[in-house]
Amino acid sequence: MTQEELFKVLVAHCKEYGFIFPSSEIYDGLAAVYDYGQMGVELKNNIKRYWWEAMTRLNENVVGIDSCVFMHPKTWVASGHVAAFNDPLIDNKDSKKRYRADVLIEDYLAKIEEKIAKEVAKGKKRFGDSFDEAQFRATNPNVLREQAKYDEVHGRYKAAEDANDLAAYKQIILDCEIVDPISGTRNWTDVRQFNLMFSTQGSNTGNGDDVLYLRPETAQGIFVEYLNVQKTGHMKIPFGIAQIGKAFRNEIVARQFIFRMKEFEQMEMEFFVRPGTEMEWFAKWKENRMKWHVALGMGAENYRFHDHEKLAHYANAATDIEFNFPFGFKELEGIHSRTDFDLGNHQKLSGKKIQYFDPDLGESYVPYCVETSIGVDRMFLAVLSHSYNVEQLEGGDSRVVLSLPAPLAPVKVAVLPLVKKDGLPELAQEVVDEIKYDFAYQYDEKDSIGKRYRRQDAIGTPFCVTVDNDSLNDHCVTVRERDTMQQERVPIAELRALIDKKVNMSNLLRKL
Ligand code: ATP
Repeated sequence: MTQEELFKVLVAHCKEYGFIFPSSEIYDGLAAVYDYGQMGVELKNNIKRYWWEAMTRLNENVVGIDSCVFMHPKTWVASGHVAAFNDPLIDNKDSKKRYRADVLIEDYLAKIEEKIAKEVAKGKKRFGDSFDEAQFRATNPNVLREQAKYDEVHGRYKAAEDANDLAAYKQIILDCEIVDPISGTRNWTDVRQFNLMFSTQGSNTGNGDDVLYLRPETAQGIFVEYLNVQKTGHMKIPFGIAQIGKAFRNEIVARQFIFRMKEFEQMEMEFFVRPGTEMEWFAKWKENRMKWHVALGMGAENYRFHDHEKLAHYANAATDIEFNFPFGFKELEGIHSRTDFDLGNHQKLSGKKIQYFDPDLGESYVPYCVETSIGVDRMFLAVLSHSYNVEQLEGGDSRVVLSLPAPLAPVKVAVLPLVKKDGLPELAQEVVDEIKYDFAYQYDEKDSIGKRYRRQDAIGTPFCVTVDNDSLNDHCVTVRERDTMQQERVPIAELRALIDKKVNMSNLLRKL
């Protein structure tokens, strides 16, 4: 299965098992907008809980807030979003489809990189153990030709990006003969800037000065509440404010599922520090956040840092945590040292003094800030894409299993009477009563036990508990573990402790 095919299978799986549905599907859906179904919402809530508790419970100097989607329009002037939250867009006149010009060029560059990688792989195969990759890259004519092409286009692209030169973007697209993947033509419009913020009207005067934006990030809600939280919480620097909430961006996207949505959720934390100490905190938060990811057990090799060379004007350090998605390593989380840019600008524009009196220094300053920002939906996709497996079983059979980290699984335990008679459903109900206060569960008495196991595997339930005729006498049940499929006989009275050991979120938090 190619990566792209796997991605298609994932989308279908999410729909079939109630994780994610295309929004308003009965009207043919809405591009880049998705709804979470009965399973999806549980998994999503568990991801949010893991983040929230790690942030606000394990760091005694981090507190949470919940600010609104709507904010005073000046917020977005101060943050720079009105002036500069733009993507360079280009339309194909034949397909009438819209693309990001930078993405078209990046895809073109990625194809050249792929060609080079293929040449190198061929060389490796041909020369075996004696293969010297550096020498091969320096001498192979095919590699050299492709590398020269890459360097030339990459250089022009970076220059266009730095100068925000829209005509230069277009010229690169024309010179590289980049075609629209749908129409196959090169009939392009000029490149234009397109602001990603959605807007709506705040009141009914209709005279144009009442525009409200749907927040494109949750961070600004934290910055404008900085003073309130610092004062009412008697917070001493360094301290952080965390928030989970919806954000909206008018993204121009193609087939990226929940990786890039128009309405999505962010988990952001702004950590306020004394100016001059921000690099130390930046390093600490990098380490802290990577640990949070790796503790889930999805393989440390599937994460990497991508430090930014080109920094946004407000940042003095920035990195992404990238995850190995089915379509390659891509940004999952951003960590930025944002200096005093946001608080400083809000201070200027609002005219309110936003400063901290540092008793140790005996002076006031606008705090510096280190931000950690992760998309809930992107995290959902990371967990789901990593957990999805098709396993070949003995006897030629196969099963689809979601090996979700157990504390994140939407359903922790399924209670299954072997047959629908002989008092087994009644005893199964007693088992349900034993566990329902602690764990999300499903009760299922339909179909063969094998089919029921498969259904639970497909939604990632860590434990299946089967009640059979022997259970009536020995008050034991058979517990089947999802990943190993191993079964053990367990007294009903010990069930809770056994399940808890594996699925309790606090065990995960203890690893941090
Ligand atoms: P990208 O370069 O992928 O557009 P970004 O650098 O614009 O992302 P940030 O503004 O740093 O992203 O947002 C922080 C996090 O929010 C990202 O790491 C990502 O997980 C998430 N995120 C951003 N945009 C979207 C979106 N359109 N859909 C889903 N998640 C998103």
